[in-house]
Amino acid sequence: MKLDADNVLRDLRELADLTGGPGGARRLAWTPDWLQARGWLRDKLAALGDAVSVHQDEAGNLWASVGAADPTAEGFVIIGSHLDAVPAGGWLDGALGVLSGLEVLRQVVAAGAPPVEIRLVDWAEEEGARFGRSLVGSSACCGTLEPDGIRDLRDADGNRLEDAMAECGVELDAAPQAAAWLEGALAYVELHIEQGPVLLDADLPAAAVSGTVGVERHLVRFTGQAAHAGSTPMDLRQDSLAAAAQFVLDVRESAIARDGVGTVGAIRTEPGVITAVAGLAEVMLDQRHLDPVALREMVADAHERAEAAAAAHGCRVEFQRIFSAPATPFAPELIEIARAAVAEAGGGSHDPIPSGPLHDATEVGRVVPTVMLFVQSDPPLSHVSIEDSPERALRLAIDAYGRTVEGVLALRATGRVA
Ligand SMILES: [Zn+2]
Repeated sequence: MKLDADNVLRDLRELADLTGGPGGARRLAWTPDWLQARGWLRDKLAALGDAVSVHQDEAGNLWASVGAADPTAEGFVIIGSHLDAVPAGGWLDGALGVLSGLEVLRQVVAAGAPPVEIRLVDWAEEEGARFGRSLVGSSACCGTLEPDGIRDLRDADGNRLEDAMAECGVELDAAPQAAAWLEGALAYVELHIEQGPVLLDADLPAAAVSGTVGVERHLVRFTGQAAHAGSTPMDLRQDSLAAAAQFVLDVRESAIARDGVGTVGAIRTEPGVITAVAGLAEVMLDQRHLDPVALREMVADAHERAEAAAAAHGCRVEFQRIFSAPATPFAPELIEIARAAVAEAGGGSHDPIPSGPLHDATEVGRVVPTVMLFVQSDPPLSHVSIEDSPERALRLAIDAYGRTVEGVLALRATGRVA
């Protein structure tokens, strides 16, 4: 399937002009700006004619389907991403995947019906930028959204999530019914910007993605004894911050040794003054790995090293788990299709890379065979208005995405694979 990158780039720029501009994207979920972007997409889909049927599901996800040439062909392949954006966000995050999917439908309609049904989806509220809950629409479809858990989340102006959804015609309690839209799904393919520096550093325009990593977050509290900085000799201290400092470097060593990532992004101390030994040091620890076993080992390392650091400085330590998300490895056969597609598009042959950020594909990948493709980010930043990718990389990635969708359709048309 040959996608016309000119069409995708033109659509991306048109959407950016309509709902963005120099200040960045204005497509915050459940707002009039977001609905305007949705309306624009609906117009684009309507222009493709009767072959494309458009529906909004119970969770607010927008679906556009093109039926199979053989009406008895079972199942469907899903493509897509999200149009919603963080405030003052970039022009590519999410929009690239949706508008590349739109181009797939455009080509499919022009060529006649596909071997199996294709469904383009624009997931609702991927970012979680307004209410702090990401992946709302995709988690509803995948059976992991609990309405009671998010009903009363409020935005900065005090608006409730349930009310904001209702204003867009979505009833929160009905959202889990959207799971019906995944029944019969054969595969999910998503194109997205990398949002990080790995591809830029390796001078690669695009890559297949092996999965999204698992995440473990803990508060690690070192408790010693607050004491006067002048009167307390070094050998008589119970310095919680010294223990924490040793621990921070141990976390780093563990992540490097086990090929994951481990971050201490913040330490809070008490009393937190220059003239006192810290009696309490509370470390905020984030660890991620694609392999669940390796992630467990990193957490075990953290416990072991924290105990050793505490003992070395006469302190006690306790762990409090504050968040965890399992890794979502993508489907090996689909990864291979995407990897080969990148090579055929001229992007070189190389190993797939894991995704540190979560995506809708993280949710979908738990219940449907899934693969993502990343395009290089340059600068390697996202969720900012200067987010960008080189045009050469975008064109190559769009080409590779079209080849991947074609490969997945062909595979699924010849036999369903779990
Ligand atoms: Zn995104």
